[in-house]
Amino acid sequence: SAEETRYQPAQTINEVKNLISIATQCANFPTVTLRYSNLELLKKIGFTDFSESSLQKYFADFDALPENLPEPLALAYHGHQFGQYNPQIGDGRGFLFAQFKDDKGRLLDLGTKGSGQTPFSRTGDGRLTLKGGVREVLATEMLQAHGVNTSKSLTLFETHEQLYRGDEPSPARSGVLVRMSHSHIRFGTFQRLAYLEDEKGIADLIAYCVRHYYPDVQRGEFKDTVIAFFRAVMTATADMIASWMAAGFVHGVMNTDNMVITGESFDYGPYRFLPVSDPNFVAAYFDDAGRYRFGRQPEVGIWNLTQLAGCLLSHSDSSSLEVVLNEYADVYRASLRSHVFRRLGIHQTSPEEDGHFIQTYLNWMTQSGAAFEQTFFDWYGGAASAIRSKLSPQANLYEGTEFSEVKQMLMAYEPLDEKSLQSSYFQSVHPVTVLIQDIENIWMKVVEEDDWSEFHQAIDRIRNYSKCTA
Ligand code: AMP
Ligand code: MG
Ligand code: MG
Repeated sequence: SAEETRYQPAQTINEVKNLISIATQCANFPTVTLRYSNLELLKKIGFTDFSESSLQKYFADFDALPENLPEPLALAYHGHQFGQYNPQIGDGRGFLFAQFKDDKGRLLDLGTKGSGQTPFSRTGDGRLTLKGGVREVLATEMLQAHGVNTSKSLTLFETHEQLYRGDEPSPARSGVLVRMSHSHIRFGTFQRLAYLEDEKGIADLIAYCVRHYYPDVQRGEFKDTVIAFFRAVMTATADMIASWMAAGFVHGVMNTDNMVITGESFDYGPYRFLPVSDPNFVAAYFDDAGRYRFGRQPEVGIWNLTQLAGCLLSHSDSSSLEVVLNEYADVYRASLRSHVFRRLGIHQTSPEEDGHFIQTYLNWMTQSGAAFEQTFFDWYGGAASAIRSKLSPQANLYEGTEFSEVKQMLMAYEPLDEKSLQSSYFQSVHPVTVLIQDIENIWMKVVEEDDWSEFHQAIDRIRNYSKCTA
């Protein structure tokens, strides 16, 4: 029944509240306008009234939700930003304000972005540009459709303030986003406690994470639990990054404060979806050295996990942690294989053969300049897609001799699901590729004409796509 799938209020943060957070308050916005709401999620947390005024009360004015946290909590954390340790960060424009348990008993957090200044704001205004909010909504919808373990967007309100960001047009419009994700406990949450040399705090935080996120890693001895916990985080992180690579997603800012222990992708700033396969593609204009370029993301994953491992040393031993770090490459490869094969709609055969295929396929993509999304769309279903691929705008690329090896391999794989191939999405000539390049256009429509229809159409199209490939 609906009652069973309803998420129940939870307040587990109280167990570690003083260790990782400070109470804070939301900003007083002049007026607000609802721009996006995720009805499916709202229903799950018990909402039946989706009117703007009802949503405003909880997701723009931030009245406490029934039986939930009495006040918002700004979370404290540190982190490596572009490789430099920064002990001055923390939730500077967001907070945690509610927790739920899902139908499987997993914890869910509601957090904000753009809800005003907090004790961690330093010189920042605590605000989010509306453009940033729109881009985060599109990222979460899109990544969800791609099967990436991502935070979800719940609501986006425009907040009618003027923000000065050195961005065009100036002043920028403002917004407040509510996101739902299993955890907001970052690698940087552990880094802060390690920096403060709070060994008991680290033990308490590990125990909390195990209790609420990884109950299966509980062992007789605490040091064994710690290693099993770290292995679970490593696996979830490797899988998240593999799923980005298959989605052609460049996060842009993989700082250790932007990685959570549940391996959920979140905090979408200057991200991009690749137009064409390019290992050197950089998403953030301020990433001069290309530290977080597309092809480097898997390596950054292990670098970040190594920082987390360093925080666990006081409760485990370095050789056991190293064993787990050494497993990352294999876990990543296995995940990449399953994500690429799912995206291509074909059955896996053997790790060696499939691994060789993936390498050949991705190399061809990079060398040919083929459009990333279009290619996956054209070849979904392997042999079963031979006719569809002839209708592609880049059909000529598939005739070249460079492609013949890839094609031969593709043809040998068995299609995953005939039903998907019959779906309207795969019959259509409008794959999601159009949409990705449209993000800027969608935004211009909003800015210049206050026309939100393309934004909502884009979300419908993404959801339609996800139904075909789920
Ligand atoms: P981010 O790049 O969004 O991951 O943020 C990095 C750090 O800067 C976090 O501690 C944020 O809370 C903080 N921050 C980013 N923008 C603002 C802002 N406008 N006001 C206050 N703090 C901010
Ligand atoms: Mg962040
Ligand atoms: Mg942020």
